[in-house]
Amino acid sequence: MKKKLIIANWKLNGNKLSILNFLNQLNKYDYKEKKEKCKIVMSFPVIYLYLAKTIIYKKNIFLGAQNVDLNLCGPFTGEISVNMLKDIGINYVILGHSERRKYHKENDALIAKKFKIVKEANLIPILCVGENKEEKKLGKTQEVCARQLNSVISMWGPQIFNDTIIAYEPIWAIGSGETATPCSVQKIHKFIKEYIKEYDIANSEKITVQYGGSVDENNVTQLLYEADIDGVLVGGASLNYNKFKKIIDIVNSL
Ligand code: PEP
Repeated sequence: MKKKLIIANWKLNGNKLSILNFLNQLNKYDYKEKKEKCKIVMSFPVIYLYLAKTIIYKKNIFLGAQNVDLNLCGPFTGEISVNMLKDIGINYVILGHSERRKYHKENDALIAKKFKIVKEANLIPILCVGENKEEKKLGKTQEVCARQLNSVISMWGPQIFNDTIIAYEPIWAIGSGETATPCSVQKIHKFIKEYIKEYDIANSEKITVQYGGSVDENNVTQLLYEADIDGVLVGGASLNYNKFKKIIDIVNSL
């Protein structure tokens, strides 16, 4: 069985001490039956990723950045490149998170370009897609996700999605305490997989589709029972080690 993926997004939170404490506990995590069924990606603020890299010794824990620049080097003050992330051993990059779309005005075209840069650097992009409250009310969830996927497909072709991750994150569910129902998430994940399959049957199996939006230890079980939910992206509940550990325990016990 494919291992479930748990991605933690710490956003603009944490400091040296809290990250070290968290990782020291996570390193020591030992599932009672010794058969861990998940891979974990910790996305700390970029300034702490190198420190995190030097601490982690468990084989199923990886690191992710929350953003990256389009450019590889040069006069781009304040930016971080894929080469820099690679240089310090980072494997994943979250792209197109709704907070970056909203507060940093990132649009579909820019995100699609970043997707290619990340892929070319042999890092794994995690592309966030999902509708806002208004679009949900209007029944436009599939339309919005298709548009966001299309911006990548139309620029680079469908094969670019091989071995990448798509995170379905309805905007209204992020940080709101309101989770999408497992059944509605299953429906949209199936839609996303079939949408890509339509263009690229051969490689559609290689895509992982995550759900994110107020996931915690109380709702993760029901979500992961659904066939097309390959893992979860956890924001708020990943900041507290005990809560996060409960999520890992649940995934390992499935
Ligand atoms: C997120 O940051 O992408 C997220 C899903 O956050 P939360 O789990 O807090 O809703």
